[in-house]
Amino acid sequence: MRALADLHNHSCLSPCASLEESPSLIARLARERGLDLVALTDHNSALNCPAFAEACRREGIAPLFGIEASSIEEVHVVCLFGSVDEALDFGESLRGRLLDLPYDPEKLGDQVVVDADEGVLDLVGYYLGAALSIGFDELCAEAADRGAIVVPAHVDRPMFSVSSQLGFLPPGPYDAVEAMRPLPPELSRGFPVVSGSDSHYPEHVARRPFAVELPEGALDPSAAGSLLETLREALRSGRARPFWDSAARSGP
Ligand SMILES: [Zn+2]
Ligand SMILES: [Zn+2]
Repeated sequence: MRALADLHNHSCLSPCASLEESPSLIARLARERGLDLVALTDHNSALNCPAFAEACRREGIAPLFGIEASSIEEVHVVCLFGSVDEALDFGESLRGRLLDLPYDPEKLGDQVVVDADEGVLDLVGYYLGAALSIGFDELCAEAADRGAIVVPAHVDRPMFSVSSQLGFLPPGPYDAVEAMRPLPPELSRGFPVVSGSDSHYPEHVARRPFAVELPEGALDPSAAGSLLETLREALRSGRARPFWDSAARSGP
């Protein structure tokens, strides 16, 4: 089956995202806009993943649970897990390594932990938009060791990317790289290329999904085997097409 996937979305927990963008709104918009598989990837935290899991269950859409982590060089990397607990554990391990920058919610935005009914559970009082005290290579290796799908984010963007911060894509344990447009070979280095919406506002959800060929039934909640591993296999065997590839739009 051909699935439409969007693995890069920020909720109201990310200081730079709209307060409207609750995990439940992302799940609803993802379903309404035809996505089959969607991930939540807030900056340096997975605290809204429990609500996202419940919201996706209600909408009948397949979820993955992630974090967009920020290395000390300020390179963003999307790390995706198959379970809420793995994502929360990874987030917990990053907590103590987040650089302690002054955080003024008035200027930088609120960081709201919610439940699946948009009830406020907590306001995070330290700045999640800061970098971690951990280098890009080490960050990717650690996420991979924990079993994550590791995807350097928006590698061709002029901010917070391997190209802007490092000047190149170092070798690493990546399952894919995420891009905004067709990539020069030195930035893809043979890794599969996916697109992602990097949504911060409701209107962004599903703006840049990618298509991926998955085994029939892979997205069913009762499917045997792990959706994360099925997706990893599909990525690594070249079965993903970013949104600009006409093959991503054509029918089966
Ligand atoms: Zn980013
Ligand atoms: Zn992002």
